[in-house]
Amino acid sequence: MAKPLTDQDKRKQISVRGLAGVENVADLKTNFNRHLHFTLVKDRNVATKRDYYFALANTVRDYLVGRWIRTQQHYYEKDPKRVYYLSLEFYMGRTLQNTMVNLALENACDEATYQLGLDMEELQDIEEDAGLGNGGLGRLAACFLDSMASLGLAAYGYGIRYEFGIFNQKIVNGWQVEEADDWLRYGNPWEKARPEYMRPVHFYGRVEHTADGVKWVDTQVVLALPYDTPVPGYRNNIVNTMRLWSAKAPCDFNLKDFNVGGYIQAVLDRNLAENISRVLYPNDNFFEGKELRLKQEYFVVAATLQDIIRRFKASKFGSTEFVAIQLNDTHPAMAIPELMRILVDMEKLSWEKAWDIVVRTCAYTNHTVLPEALERWPIDLFQNLLPRHLEIIYEINRRHLERITKLYPGDLDRLRRMSLIEEGDVKKINMAHLCIVGSHAVNGVARIHSEIIKNTCVSVKLTDKHFALPSWTPRTIMIGGKVSTTEGVYNLPTVFRSCLFNASQHDCPLRFQAAPGYHTAKMIIKLITSIGDIVNNDPVVGDRLKVIFLENYRVTLAEKVIPASDLSEQISTAGTEASGTGNMKFMLNGALTIGTMDGANVEMAEEAGEENLFIFGMRVEDVEALDKKGYDAVSYYNRIPELKQAMDQISGDTFSPGQPDLFKDLVNMLMHHDRFKVFADYEDYIKCQEKVSALYKNPKEWTKMVIHNIAGCGKFSSDRTISQYAREIWGMEPSLEKIAAPDDPR
Ligand SMILES: *Cc1c(COP(=O)(O)O)cnc(C)c1O
Repeated sequence: MAKPLTDQDKRKQISVRGLAGVENVADLKTNFNRHLHFTLVKDRNVATKRDYYFALANTVRDYLVGRWIRTQQHYYEKDPKRVYYLSLEFYMGRTLQNTMVNLALENACDEATYQLGLDMEELQDIEEDAGLGNGGLGRLAACFLDSMASLGLAAYGYGIRYEFGIFNQKIVNGWQVEEADDWLRYGNPWEKARPEYMRPVHFYGRVEHTADGVKWVDTQVVLALPYDTPVPGYRNNIVNTMRLWSAKAPCDFNLKDFNVGGYIQAVLDRNLAENISRVLYPNDNFFEGKELRLKQEYFVVAATLQDIIRRFKASKFGSTEFVAIQLNDTHPAMAIPELMRILVDMEKLSWEKAWDIVVRTCAYTNHTVLPEALERWPIDLFQNLLPRHLEIIYEINRRHLERITKLYPGDLDRLRRMSLIEEGDVKKINMAHLCIVGSHAVNGVARIHSEIIKNTCVSVKLTDKHFALPSWTPRTIMIGGKVSTTEGVYNLPTVFRSCLFNASQHDCPLRFQAAPGYHTAKMIIKLITSIGDIVNNDPVVGDRLKVIFLENYRVTLAEKVIPASDLSEQISTAGTEASGTGNMKFMLNGALTIGTMDGANVEMAEEAGEENLFIFGMRVEDVEALDKKGYDAVSYYNRIPELKQAMDQISGDTFSPGQPDLFKDLVNMLMHHDRFKVFADYEDYIKCQEKVSALYKNPKEWTKMVIHNIAGCGKFSSDRTISQYAREIWGMEPSLEKIAAPDDPR
């Protein structure tokens, strides 16, 4: 039972939720009614809950407008260094509550809606998630925007306004079924279209080398229409911009060659051009080399660079030192050759001068070392879609290899390893190599991950100084958890095992989430739900253990489930999870961690004290040693009776009555080609779970450990991370100062 709040508690609560001053409340009610009438065109007899949500959203939005305009004026006048965060994903979730919190309006809105006979929380629940991301990478981009605004940086997020975000997941008979995420169906009150800043983006065509330079001609044009979303800082009156591009066919699309299908067909075909921003690819840590995806990647880069250059040319000081571009993984890597094309072909700079600007401006964040996630685009695709960029990449590579040859004469193997072009049955462009060569700074997302990429990629750059960043750990508050990754089986089966066979010893609740993707991922979901069917109806297990599959995991669900959790399982085989971010969110929100020495778990153990986490399993060196020796899953199966029993039950019909073959692919994978070597950590994991169970029975000791974790999690604030990016990559100084407040709507 919570104790009743003291006056002091209430004052503190007010300081976080903002003051519900009488004037504020009266203004909010007036504005709410005005929006219901003029914006929603409803009276209270016919208004729906959704109308009330939109009226509230518009009311709160009005408090952003003055701050947004003033911030942009402030930037124009001061002309500070600008930072551009380029990402194919921004996993924003909902906006209303975040806006109220950052503007200190939450209490007043709560009071105003209450006086109007409405329940604010019920209205908030109507807002659609902006699900323009798959997971950690997209949520990182969203948290970074928040922190950049809160730290007073003149920052812009640039991405794609997908008409359909990450799919909605339904579970039907235990299987995953996908539904389209039609998040814009009822309109988006937070965005403002800016047709006046529409930009052309070119595709296909051919290259002409003429006396007065290189020309890219006979292209097909798609227009990029920007939509701006405000990004408020925390109580500092700063409102930055996230600008997302939407694809529009030009008016004359397909009409110039008015022959084939004629006018009607040409209008119908406009969809083809506009498909570029139709849908987010639901690939987490997986590269799918589709032409439409390459079009998306170039589309955002080409539109954004035009915008950056327009703003640069309009700026007062006009120094290229005042522009920083951060590439969120290789997805926006085309920024490097595109900026070269603009500077050399259009602005007529020398190659050397242009390259100097590109490298000083760009920086690259690597998110994974899993080979199946690395972007390697076939040359043929490029030749057809972006012929001039292919030439530029060849020239970047020629100069790169020339430098290597001077430094390491005769070292052909090194040339092959470090080339941007991979030879093979299909020639491919290695986008990570392009990013490393074209950037002045490269970072991983956790210290151990940065070390791993230094050991695997540093040779591309020839020198260590570009990897000056000691460590990286992202993230802000109370959001997130994890869908297991595509094909990422990690140690899930051992989790099942512990819950199934140690049920009697386990008094601690376990929760399961699994994720989208292809065959293996879908089979894992089916296995979890099947185990649930058996375990949840087992009279011996009773109500001591329930296996619950959380359907449609997303930011809004993470915000609920993470603070409700006691144990966070971060059990990737060491060296395979770059950082993880769910791990930090659980730590901050009062869960304890059982985990391997992988990703940010390493730094979490350092900050909280290793004795305050449940660490088990192989270290990276052990995994490497095992690789050398050769991993033999079957030997573990034969040696460990409990593991054998678990696998036999999964491959028999214990969890799939009447269908003993249902999970045979999963079992076959685990026994014969498991890249993650999960059985090798099995025994240590089980031992560690026993420690967890024992400690869970001692609430005092458990709580002590929780407090050490919460007290030690400060490093994992995205404000800390962004301060470090600002100083070490962008050469900017974060600031906690406020700018002047504008007049709020009366
Ligand atoms: C944080 C978060 C993720 C990423 O979790 P990881 O544990 O870092 O993989 C995925 N989805 C949502 C909704 C999140 O909030």
